[in-house]
Amino acid sequence: MTVQDKVAVVTGAARGIGKEIARTLMHAGAKVVIADLNIADAEACAAELDATDTQAMGVAMDVADEAQVDTGIATAAEKFGGIDILVSNAGIQTVAPMEDFDFAAWKKLLAIHLDGAFLTSRAALRHMFKQGRGGSIILMGSVHSKEASVLKAPYVTAKHGLIGLAKVIAKEGAAHKVRANVVCPGFVRTPLVDKQIPEQAKALGISEDDVIKNVMLKHTVDGEFTTVEDVAQAVLFFASFGSNALTGQSLVVSHGWYMQ
Ligand code: NAD
Repeated sequence: MTVQDKVAVVTGAARGIGKEIARTLMHAGAKVVIADLNIADAEACAAELDATDTQAMGVAMDVADEAQVDTGIATAAEKFGGIDILVSNAGIQTVAPMEDFDFAAWKKLLAIHLDGAFLTSRAALRHMFKQGRGGSIILMGSVHSKEASVLKAPYVTAKHGLIGLAKVIAKEGAAHKVRANVVCPGFVRTPLVDKQIPEQAKALGISEDDVIKNVMLKHTVDGEFTTVEDVAQAVLFFASFGSNALTGQSLVVSHGWYMQ
């Protein structure tokens, strides 16, 4: 039940939830690969985490680009000696009503969330199966893997889809002791959510305060945002769990926004 000396790739790790996951896994003893669109951002994140060269490395990777994913994962495996943990976390949000939703925006969101999870999982699995020392794949879902909200058609579609993908990986990975699980956070104050507040206020014709109180937090048990630390602890739990007993599952971390 430890991630000590394991190699963990975290996508979308230059900021927000991914950055905190990288920090938490590194402090728990893992070697962390900080993968993001821009190498300068990934390396700045490693510097901010005070990581040494043997604790973390930055990798440039657009998760929707097959060649960049395969090369990035291979580079990381070569430098750190394999891949043990993948946290497929990179994501974006675009809000609009169905009838106005731009097709290109729909496809872009699905590509980052679904193609990204598929491509990074496939690349990581190839290394894990070859290494023969097991592994843990963690996909970043959302309360929107379980429930819908207005204005979020592609996001809700993609986040539901990740649960199916994790279940397939759990079944195919079992013989190799590779587990796959989904972490499903409620609203977390990151740039992804900050950007949505004025957009939702405009689309719904309400104030930004009302978006926070009556859209984002209304269904929580205590009116509180989930934190990046809360999400990172859930990821650490899945990453460090040592057997196939915990696989194909999804864990909601949302202050009760969604109860299973
Ligand atoms: P964020 O916008 O703060 O950070 C996202 C990171 O992903 C950025 O560093 C960005 O550069 C990177 N990224 C975007 N597109 C990429 C691509 N194509 N390839 C590689 N990297 C890319 O977002 P966040 O709030 O930290 O969200 C992280 C994940 O958590 C997402 O999957 C999101 O859907 C999920 N999530 C967030 C919340 C929330 O309330 N913030 C809630 C539930 C789930």
